[in-house]
Amino acid sequence: MYELDTIAAISTPMGEGAIAIVRLSGEEAFRIIDEIFVSPSGKKMQDVPSHTIHYGHIVDPKTEQTIEEVMVSVMRGPKTFTREDVIEINCHGGLVSVNKLLQLVMGRGARLAEPGEFTKRAFLNGRIDLSQAEAVMDLIRAKTDRAMNVALGQMEGRLSKLIQKLRQEILETLAHVEVNIDYPEYDDVEEMTHQLLLEKSNYVKTELEKLLQTGQQGKILREGLSTVIVGRPNVGKSSLLNSLVHENKAIVTDIPGTTRDVIEEYVNVRGVPLRLVDTAGIRETEDIVERIGVERSREVLKKADLILLVLNYNERLSEEDEKLFEAVKGMDVIVIVNKTDLDEKIDLDKVQALAKEQPLITTSLKEDEGVDELEEAISSMFFQGNLEAGDMTYVSNSRHIGLLTQAQQALEDAISGVQSGVPIDIVQIDLTRTWELLGEIIGDAVHESLIDQLFSQFCLGK
Ligand code: GDP
Ligand code: ZN
Repeated sequence: MYELDTIAAISTPMGEGAIAIVRLSGEEAFRIIDEIFVSPSGKKMQDVPSHTIHYGHIVDPKTEQTIEEVMVSVMRGPKTFTREDVIEINCHGGLVSVNKLLQLVMGRGARLAEPGEFTKRAFLNGRIDLSQAEAVMDLIRAKTDRAMNVALGQMEGRLSKLIQKLRQEILETLAHVEVNIDYPEYDDVEEMTHQLLLEKSNYVKTELEKLLQTGQQGKILREGLSTVIVGRPNVGKSSLLNSLVHENKAIVTDIPGTTRDVIEEYVNVRGVPLRLVDTAGIRETEDIVERIGVERSREVLKKADLILLVLNYNERLSEEDEKLFEAVKGMDVIVIVNKTDLDEKIDLDKVQALAKEQPLITTSLKEDEGVDELEEAISSMFFQGNLEAGDMTYVSNSRHIGLLTQAQQALEDAISGVQSGVPIDIVQIDLTRTWELLGEIIGDAVHESLIDQLFSQFCLGK
């Protein structure tokens, strides 16, 4: 166990909730509560059994003024979230009294917790690993139910278990190879060693591949699908944006403490969080092709995960429209032909030819037609219905995806090393590297600075 001071925070969302919880964790938690808590029977929290709840009042010992009527939960370490002694004070949640309570415990020796510090302690004290801690953060920020399920699975340790299993495989292989090297008198030992290395490396590589394949979906769920709406002026881009936002719950997240204090706009389309990239920007630069030319707009588009290309049913296809198709070539595009309530002037066959394999949807946003089909197209484009299978292990975090990709590369080096007859000790280095990279995912041998940085992204009180 780490020797840590006692921390405190309000661990329910800020504002006028029905109840608020002030949480204390650390060695001094019991001493502090006994100085400020008065139970009707006069019992001390130091003496009561662990994991029990007690009614009473918080009284400022200096002024003898009663601050709150509360319920106190007593949880003795190590069977707690942080593995330390934990006290949770449930109060009615008036902002003023909760703050007073927090001030009071801080005046008695607790320190205000940094964002994520409770979870960080759970990690430092070995209660959870790093990928589980990151899942706690994802859970807090999850934007759709699907995203939440992925985070929950990760928090329960599903990813960690798989990673541990693969690391164990590698470790056993390395040990086996060592043994073979120590007994070179057997005839076919070199052949056997090569065989073993290839077999195991290929097995782990396949598992990593499977995991990485879930990464694209996982990442979309976690971070949202950055979506850009393009089209000539007046085709209905703003109308499309509005109907997507109005038909679906617009999710506005405000993530303080991240590098950009921005408010991003998300819409939840059948479980797919669309991040309407720089919504203000879309509105402002909606005539993007006209204003900045095809070259520049191409760069803007390159960053998007999904392009909604809007055309006008009531106008002939123009050169500009065709340039737009050219600009979004190779990307995930859904072509929308809007204003079907008006006369057909566009050549739909030609549009179909330009759209090639990409979905083509006709809409009348004015009459609210075709929006369902569009949503269906969006969700089936990114999820082939397999996402809700709850027993799969997902990766969703770019840090994990990066490490998995590197681990895969190291494995490939090992495999091609064996195949081209590189000395075994070099192959061992590649395998060891794979083992280390996988370890970083679950927080085995990671830098302290990385840990600080990861945990600082949390909300207060978690
Ligand atoms: P933007 O310039 O591409 O953003 O286009 P807007 O969304 O501002 O729409 C331009 C005009 O077309 C507005 O007057 C809309 O009301 C109208 N409009 C949008 N969708 C439809 C539609 O499906 N049918 C008809 N008839 N008009 C539409
Ligand atoms: Zn507009």
